[in-house]
Amino acid sequence: MQPLFRSRRDRLDRLRRQREEAVEAAARRSAVPPSGSQTCPGCGAECANQDLVRSEYVCPHCGYHLPIGAYLRLSLLLDPFTFRELWPGLTAPNALEFPGYEEKLSSQREKTALCDAAVAAVGKLDGISAVFAVLDSRFFMGSMGVAVGEKITRAAEYAQKHRLPLVIFSASGGARMQEGILSLMQMAKTSAAIRRFSDAGGLYISVFTHPTTGGVTASFASLGDVTLAEPGALIGFAGPRVIRQTIGQELPDGFQRAEYLEEHGFVDQIVPRGQLRDTLAQLLALHRKGVLHR
Ligand SMILES: [Zn+2]
Repeated sequence: MQPLFRSRRDRLDRLRRQREEAVEAAARRSAVPPSGSQTCPGCGAECANQDLVRSEYVCPHCGYHLPIGAYLRLSLLLDPFTFRELWPGLTAPNALEFPGYEEKLSSQREKTALCDAAVAAVGKLDGISAVFAVLDSRFFMGSMGVAVGEKITRAAEYAQKHRLPLVIFSASGGARMQEGILSLMQMAKTSAAIRRFSDAGGLYISVFTHPTTGGVTASFASLGDVTLAEPGALIGFAGPRVIRQTIGQELPDGFQRAEYLEEHGFVDQIVPRGQLRDTLAQLLALHRKGVLHR
């Protein structure tokens, strides 16, 4: 058994090193090489990487918000030197023995330096301590399996125990198919944890980012006391094609976009990425007294 433990420990060490490097790189805002460019999915313009780093990955031409990784997101929000990651090595086994799943997990881990699709941390935003959880769509499309569900649940429980507000950024393709019923169970588990946190008087701010769909929309992401969204984010449960076929009707313009959902009361406010930090700081400050005294 010893060689098995050793190789597992080596792998975890390697992941930890990669992760630490990723945090540092994100903190320096140099996650992409300064040279080069990428095509904006919104308007098709070529955007220089240097400009994208400066604009926090918002297209300078059309305002399209490109998806960003969890560590970069946290580095844009948190006060310097206050980031402390929670349960960094949390993973889940291939409990259903889904063929090829472990190989896919390994390749996703190598590619992204993430253990799974969620990163949780405690840190300060404008001097106010809070618990943060961020889904990363680069890892299995941010899908929720046991590891993601467990991390969200622990984040809510940690926030409750330490009487801190909770901020969750969602970006997800839904439940993790390879984990079957176990991934669907995370919807109930995370929702129950948020409910207990809410009953204890905690403040939960949910931020939808592009795209958030499926079981994540249908559970913790929709349970915020305050629900924010980035402009243009796709937010839904089933895809528009499935809905169109099911109800046999054409869908309205802008269906499942953040703006449509704000208009219909599902989202409280759409906040451009450049204003998110200030908006969150205001909300946290506004609720600070209540959180501390309950
Ligand atoms: Zn654009």
